[in-house]
Amino acid sequence: MKIVWFRKDLRVHDNAALTQACQDGPVTAVYFITPEQWKKHDVAPIQIDFIEKALNQLANSLAELGIELIVKTVDLFSDVPNSLVYLCRKLNASEVLANCEVEIDEINRDISVQQHGVNLKLFQSDCIINPGEVLTQQGTMFKVFTPFKINCLSQIKSLDLTPYAKPAYNNLILEQDELITLSPPTISIELPKKDSSTWQASEDAAQAHLSKFLDEQVEDYHLHRDFPAKPGTSMLSPYLALGLISAKQCLYALLQRYPHALDNGKDGPSTWVNELIWREFYRHIMVLNPRLGKGANYNQLGNNINWQNDPKLFKAWCEGKTGYPLVDAAMQQLTQTGWMHNRLRMVCASFLTKHLLIDWRWGERFFKQHLIDGDFASNNGGWQWVASTGCDAQPYFRIFNPIIQSQKFDPNGQFISIYNQALSHLSDKQIHFPVNPIVEHKLARLTALDLFSVLKKG
Ligand SMILES: Cc1cc2nc3c(=O)[nH]c(=O)nc-3n(C[C@H](O)[C@H](O)[C@H](O)COP(=O)(O)OP(=O)(O)OC[C@H]3O[C@@H](n4cnc5c(N)ncnc54)[C@H](O)[C@@H]3O)c2cc1C
Repeated sequence: MKIVWFRKDLRVHDNAALTQACQDGPVTAVYFITPEQWKKHDVAPIQIDFIEKALNQLANSLAELGIELIVKTVDLFSDVPNSLVYLCRKLNASEVLANCEVEIDEINRDISVQQHGVNLKLFQSDCIINPGEVLTQQGTMFKVFTPFKINCLSQIKSLDLTPYAKPAYNNLILEQDELITLSPPTISIELPKKDSSTWQASEDAAQAHLSKFLDEQVEDYHLHRDFPAKPGTSMLSPYLALGLISAKQCLYALLQRYPHALDNGKDGPSTWVNELIWREFYRHIMVLNPRLGKGANYNQLGNNINWQNDPKLFKAWCEGKTGYPLVDAAMQQLTQTGWMHNRLRMVCASFLTKHLLIDWRWGERFFKQHLIDGDFASNNGGWQWVASTGCDAQPYFRIFNPIIQSQKFDPNGQFISIYNQALSHLSDKQIHFPVNPIVEHKLARLTALDLFSVLKKG
């Protein structure tokens, strides 16, 4: 007997650990709900709801393969090793197979599992290329995105990206006409949840989402991706964050239609590849710099920033009451729907760190507490990019002007009007300007330039 331990890879297709386990002998699957750990990791109630739904779908898919999914609840990651030891003994399992995760607590948990004597075998099914395999000629991690991307593109060209198929029926003892379909009990996570049903939580839904995006949107992705009122991006992030679909599956499907997308061009498909590689970049950085998982600035000069951290200003930002229409509408999008458009994540993060002078870690946490796609590596990477403390981050003196961002990317105020009906009567010209702003842009910019000048090199 082998055990497949599911984590952020809630799928039966293109799942390296599951495929390997099903090669010989029977398999049982396990998933751990870890309420206290999730609290520490600020897992959003909407993401918990999404996980619950995805687990029920996964249990059904596994049952069709003759595999039972056992769901266990323990408080913390530190409780997992003993629970796994017990399960291995009970099932007389020789191996536990799982797919790697990139975050430090997850990595330490896996080490502890191995130290408890569990024969844990880890596979790569999250990144397209293994972290640690995209390196400079000196064997170090790239510090700049573009050469990292070029190296990735060249490596990907020689990889076989064909996703692993769904494994065959697993209970080898039974003859074909005796196949038993298990009927799994309903899985329920007894924690605060927020309805996530805007995203149907199944592998099929993720695949349908991908196909629709590739059929209808990707050609114009480079033109529309920055406009939050347009359906310009894939909105696949919740599926990727919880592993209902893999980045490799996305890339493979894209290349079936657009083989040139690896040629570093500027059209829609190539630009989408670029974004998938940003995801890789932040994962690779995280693995090679584990201190990032403990809240460290990537650029240690960031330790010298004298954050002001005014709780009243933070509250106004969280509640979408800064007075800046685009920032406030974006924060409403986050708290109401659990998702925020990428352009707006940048605008809101910039406003928090550079207008309100609040530590990026406060914003990182708030995002994680509300995002359905909350993902430590991408969230940390995004926040540190905006705060200018990250790897290949935006220069400290680049400060988004929330009014100009609004004029450029929501020119008719269409997005603002969705979340603030009261402003919808305003003209295209007027709607972008602040009403009773909590800080004044020009003054805030000058203060930020001074405070962030500690990031000046030399
Ligand atoms: C401050 C900040 C916080 C963020 N927090 C998260 C987070 O918690 N989880 C998350 O998945 N993404 C995060 N991102 C990245 C990005 O905003 C989202 O991945 C994107 O908005 C998801 O929408 P989409 O699926 O339509 O993306 P698409 O534009 O269709 O891109 C396809 C996929 O590529 C990946 N991707 C795209 N842009 C980025 C990026 N800049 N960095 C890393 N991966 C990217 C995502 O997996 C995304 O689903 C953050 C960005 C910023 C600036």
